[in-house]
Amino acid sequence: MKNDKSTQGIIFNIQEYAVQDGPGIRTTIFLKGCPLRCRWCCNPEGQSPHAELMWSKPLCRRCKQCISWCPENAVSTDHEGYPLFKRNICHSCVNHTCEKKCPVGAIKIVGKHWSAQALYERIKTNALFYRNSNGGITLSGGEPFAQPEFVKEFLIHCETTGLSVGVETCGKFDWNRVKDFIDRFDFYYFDIKCMDTEIHKFVTGQGNEAILENLRRLAAINPERIIVTIPVIPGINATAEMITETADFCKDIGITQIRLLPYHALGKFKYHALDRKYLMEDDLSVWQTDLEMFKTTILSKEIHCWIE
Ligand code: SF4
Ligand code: SF4
Repeated sequence: MKNDKSTQGIIFNIQEYAVQDGPGIRTTIFLKGCPLRCRWCCNPEGQSPHAELMWSKPLCRRCKQCISWCPENAVSTDHEGYPLFKRNICHSCVNHTCEKKCPVGAIKIVGKHWSAQALYERIKTNALFYRNSNGGITLSGGEPFAQPEFVKEFLIHCETTGLSVGVETCGKFDWNRVKDFIDRFDFYYFDIKCMDTEIHKFVTGQGNEAILENLRRLAAINPERIIVTIPVIPGINATAEMITETADFCKDIGITQIRLLPYHALGKFKYHALDRKYLMEDDLSVWQTDLEMFKTTILSKEIHCWIE
């Protein structure tokens, strides 16, 4: 876009016509970069703040095009003839020739730079759908507030035309960098993963103190627009005690809505594509009876609750 001096951000997906990320029909924008490393994360490609290479072994035809076209000599082969990528080199690559040359789309570079203005121009073409369905935009990730200047500028663009914007946050962000605009979202999906800070640290890499403090601050401004999200993870927080403690905390700070997201392993294949280890045990699942029990517990505290 000519003369576009607006703030740059990095995004790894734009999902149009989403119906599960807030009211109405929405476009969900996934921003790259997150301070947490949740073991069960189903969007691990959103964690690093940089562009990354994802490679699909099932799609790969071992044609070696990516080897011959890589300008950085970053690709070799394993004993079966599959490509091996030197990801530390790919990390700073700007060519991404491999993605362009792979004949079967087995390589995908996740993370593209957008200016706030260009992103707004891109999504506003669907404005009619959003308005007619009471929908809008949902910022997700990764952690959107890890790119505060970009998010703020994008929000201002949306505000000029009255587009609804909601945000999904892991809660770990620098309050001082968002405090002048955080009150302007139509809704917040705000995660509480675990009330025990030691367990939280073990499974996400960070304690929960700053997250709970941010939630307290936000609840002091906009409690009715917050939907606390509890990812229900067996062996981590899927106990009556932990759910009760979470609900009590929410009740204390005036939050009236909680949604329960049962654990699934649908993102597991992405870890392989990123050459990372999936740390969750196989075959974990949450019993429906437990979910219903957790829901009843939360409802008993006069907090609206649903299972997604
Ligand atoms: S991302 Fe760049 S360095 Fe890595 S394989 Fe592709 S072209 Fe080579
Ligand atoms: S270019 Fe694509 S199909 Fe060919 S070896 Fe590389 S990843 Fe596999």
